[in-house]
Amino acid sequence: MAKARTGAELPVAIVGGGFSGTLLAINLLRHDVKVVLVERDETQLAKGLAFGTRRPEHLLNVRAANMSAFPDDLGHFLRWMGFSTDDQANRFVPRLAYGHYLRELLVDALSGPPGRAEVRAGEAIAAEFRPDATTLLLAGGGSIECRALVLALGNFPPPPLPALTELPPTLHFADVWQPGALDDLGGVDHVVLLGSGLTAADAIVSLDSAGYRGRITTLSRRGLKPRSHAEDGPVVASMPEPETSGSWLVRVVRERAAAVGWRAAIDELRPHTQHIWRRHDVAAQRRFLRHLRPYWDVHRHRLAPQVAVRISVLEQSGRLAFTAGKLTGATVEGASARLRWRPRGGSAEVNLLAQRVINCIGPEGDVTCAGHPLLDNLLEQGRARPDVHRLGLDVEQSGRLRNAAGEPQEGLFAVGPLTKGEAWEIVAVPDIRRQVWDLARYLGSAHWVGGEGL
Ligand SMILES: Cc1cc2nc3c(=O)[nH]c(=O)nc-3n(C[C@H](O)[C@H](O)[C@H](O)COP(=O)(O)OP(=O)(O)OC[C@H]3O[C@@H](n4cnc5c(N)ncnc54)[C@H](O)[C@@H]3O)c2cc1C
Repeated sequence: MAKARTGAELPVAIVGGGFSGTLLAINLLRHDVKVVLVERDETQLAKGLAFGTRRPEHLLNVRAANMSAFPDDLGHFLRWMGFSTDDQANRFVPRLAYGHYLRELLVDALSGPPGRAEVRAGEAIAAEFRPDATTLLLAGGGSIECRALVLALGNFPPPPLPALTELPPTLHFADVWQPGALDDLGGVDHVVLLGSGLTAADAIVSLDSAGYRGRITTLSRRGLKPRSHAEDGPVVASMPEPETSGSWLVRVVRERAAAVGWRAAIDELRPHTQHIWRRHDVAAQRRFLRHLRPYWDVHRHRLAPQVAVRISVLEQSGRLAFTAGKLTGATVEGASARLRWRPRGGSAEVNLLAQRVINCIGPEGDVTCAGHPLLDNLLEQGRARPDVHRLGLDVEQSGRLRNAAGEPQEGLFAVGPLTKGEAWEIVAVPDIRRQVWDLARYLGSAHWVGGEGL
């Protein structure tokens, strides 16, 4: 009879092989921790949604100099690219190149001694918990015994828009990353993008690159569009964390913007953003989300300058318009959709005809609405709960999930965008690489003692 493996011999199972899961796996292997990485879409392995794009016009929105996978080796990506000059370090390279970088790092990490690491193709749908181990269940019948389970599930598709329920799938794409959303544009002379952030920017440059010459309208509540990075690298002096909170903090940032420019004023906050978020109470965080978030997003998450130039050329040519308002309904009219919307600040409804409507409003944050079988299973068991703002899961700073009663659980973690409620600033590479590096150290140096946990 095969001897049952004790907790210490069991691997850490990571669900999701995008950027966060892959980097966590690589870091765990550096600490000699056995790993099983579970990914449902093999074509996206290591790359995930962000870096699995095959479209060269999709550029990183972070300079090459800040895209190393490792917080303890900040020049790693530059060396991989063969970049040595300041000019090169400041470039915004295609995201698909970054995807190749990640895939190569994973392949290297997996090439060590056998038995340390495994990639399992499949969708994790449920987990069973015992005091000494967890069993992760895969669709189709497989299972994985592990000593700790880490959720690296990434972003969920955008929530459906009730105003669009009458539109058929030929006119309406519920997610810009759905196959076909940006293809087969014959007969289309007006595309409406709902949302005007970085996702809409991806769609705009892809439509343009595909040779689409019709009109594009973005419709969002405020009509804001992401700002551009400066051509030159940022000149940001490190500064102590501002001690002020709430509206005083906003005033300090405004004053700094007047003194050093808005980009530097935002960038100097970067090392402190997570801490600033954590030291505000729920009510203050809520006020930020309600009133400031849209402005924070467009200033903080910027476009590569080349993308910004393309967008402004399209705007100037009259082919692209950013509009502000609220979508109120949509009906089919011949081969088109007639969208009704109310311009911001106005009371009268206006309408427009489009042959394609694409949802670019950004990911669903409410885990209870994500329709994700594994999450649903954990929620049902009381092993997980949404964070108070419904940005993701309720986790401790270490990434440990809080159960339905609010107690942190040993051996069950989340990383990446799912932990936004706890950290706020945890969507871009520089933040996630640090988070998974820390978690790998935690899991790597932990001692598994019987059933008592890590
Ligand atoms: C379009 C886009 C562009 C971005 N560009 C940049 C950029 O230029 N610079 C930057 O710093 N940041 C960028 N980001 C932000 C950041 O890098 C990403 O949010 C980050 O890559 C998140 O990685 P992830 O692994 O958490 O999620 P993902 O990359 O989405 O990976 C999650 C993976 O989990 C898998 N999965 C989910 N559920 C299951 C399951 N039950 N079983 C098995 N597998 C499962 C999915 O198939 C997926 O591959 C971008 C984000 C997006 C969405």
